[in-house]
Amino acid sequence: MTNERRFQTHEQRAASLRVHAQDMLKAHDLTAAPIDLHRLVEDRSQIRVAAMDLRGACDGLLRWVPRYRLFYLYYDPNPYKKRFNLGHEIAHFLIDEHHHAIRSGGGFHKSNKQSFVGHKRMESEANAYCAELLMPGFLFKDLDVEPCADDILQVAGDFEVSLQSAARRIIERTEIPSALVVSRDGIVSWGMVNDPLVHLGFWGVTAGKTVPQTCATRRAASTGNNESATSHAGQWLEQAPYRLPMREEAIASPGHRVTITMLSVV
Ligand SMILES: [Zn+2]
Repeated sequence: MTNERRFQTHEQRAASLRVHAQDMLKAHDLTAAPIDLHRLVEDRSQIRVAAMDLRGACDGLLRWVPRYRLFYLYYDPNPYKKRFNLGHEIAHFLIDEHHHAIRSGGGFHKSNKQSFVGHKRMESEANAYCAELLMPGFLFKDLDVEPCADDILQVAGDFEVSLQSAARRIIERTEIPSALVVSRDGIVSWGMVNDPLVHLGFWGVTAGKTVPQTCATRRAASTGNNESATSHAGQWLEQAPYRLPMREEAIASPGHRVTITMLSVV
């Protein structure tokens, strides 16, 4: 498999990793939500898995101990992120190139998904692979979901993932031109626009930007309730080429102390 991937473009490699993740799930009869991640490594004699309070130093780590010829996987059991933390490390173990890189390159990999300590490309691949494990395309494709608060809560509950992960997956998959904005204390932390919105000429979300003064997002952040409003793309997105009305739906996510905003073309 490593050889097959050697000459792939970035997009081809991303697609083949998605297929690989799905094949792993099917090989373990993991074909219904929520996915039991532990089953993916239960049959591997080469790895030991344990939850461990990593005290904010990182979200998880994978260590190769040559003496025992074993990988040790530790993941932070933060209740809001533990499944993603575990899935991210399992991804490093299951992706051949990561597995070999960690084994031969010092035997230690520390994951910090927030600040991207470590090899950025490796981290983004493990994140995408983990998202595919938790919300596999073969289950997601039949869902009729839209970028709205109800559907995000439903997906987060059914698949046992965070609201942020559910929102991102829905935005990536929907054909409705839409964007995701994650903010904290009124400042944008990160965000993304989906391909249908890029095709309309809207390119992205700028981190560090202040969210509009009067908007559903600010109300959700202060009340903790889900809020919605009518907005327009230029208030949120960089280089908006024209005035595009959008529906704004905001959810306050207590676990992350952030507000999740979905913008979709009405
Ligand atoms: Zn990592």
